[in-house]
Amino acid sequence: MRIALYDEGADEALNIAEVAGYLAQKLAGAATELRGSPFAPNLPAEQVSDYARRMAQAKIGEITRKIPPSQEPLPAEIEYERRRILGRTRAFGVPYDGLKLQRLFCELIPGEELGPEYVHIIFTNRLLATWDEGDKRYHLRTSLYAVPCLISTSGLVEAPAKPREYYLARQQYERLGKDPLELKERFRGSFLDYGDERLTEVAKGYAMQAVFYALTGEPFCQDKGCRLYNAHWQEEMLFAQLESGYEFCPRHAEVLRHWRTK
Ligand SMILES: [Zn+2]
Repeated sequence: MRIALYDEGADEALNIAEVAGYLAQKLAGAATELRGSPFAPNLPAEQVSDYARRMAQAKIGEITRKIPPSQEPLPAEIEYERRRILGRTRAFGVPYDGLKLQRLFCELIPGEELGPEYVHIIFTNRLLATWDEGDKRYHLRTSLYAVPCLISTSGLVEAPAKPREYYLARQQYERLGKDPLELKERFRGSFLDYGDERLTEVAKGYAMQAVFYALTGEPFCQDKGCRLYNAHWQEEMLFAQLESGYEFCPRHAEVLRHWRTK
């Protein structure tokens, strides 16, 4: 198995080399490779412009409105994407249609590396969302598992819900015009934040979900203490990744043992 890890402007607290080392250790025999940006360094200018336009087209304007297929982005939006592709900025904020980005990133992977022996994992700080036909709105995602797998460091901060008390307190702070930094301080540690020193450790579990997706088609586990648990709350995510006292449930620990001895 070969695992390629990319840095598409991930949070600077993320140590991708450490994640790669973790995967290599858990999946003895797998070759890991750090690739930096998924965009080739010497892309022709027209190609950069084309990708930039399509990236900008994947931006979500309104969370309750599906992006029209012919959405025409503003020149400034395309220019931002061009600078980002060229590695000149990693600013972020607006969510993107994750599936559109995934299709675009897939085109960047060489054809001979699309086989089942390859796992491609792209770390990004872009916020990713997917459209839900059920409630007709986009939902933020921590990760999307396909080819390639996308893991959003901002998604790990924003997608799993924070404690209910946090949202109540936030309303109160807003009403009273109190300092939002003080609010963050009050709840510090109870959810993952930008630049969080726990980010790399949490990301290891999500990288492992990507590997399980690639090898078995099923990235998730029902066990709340297993690193493959699909957490919807920050509390659940931190428990599964850091606090449960074990990394993998007996079933997944056994699968890993089996892979190691194969
Ligand atoms: Zn499990």
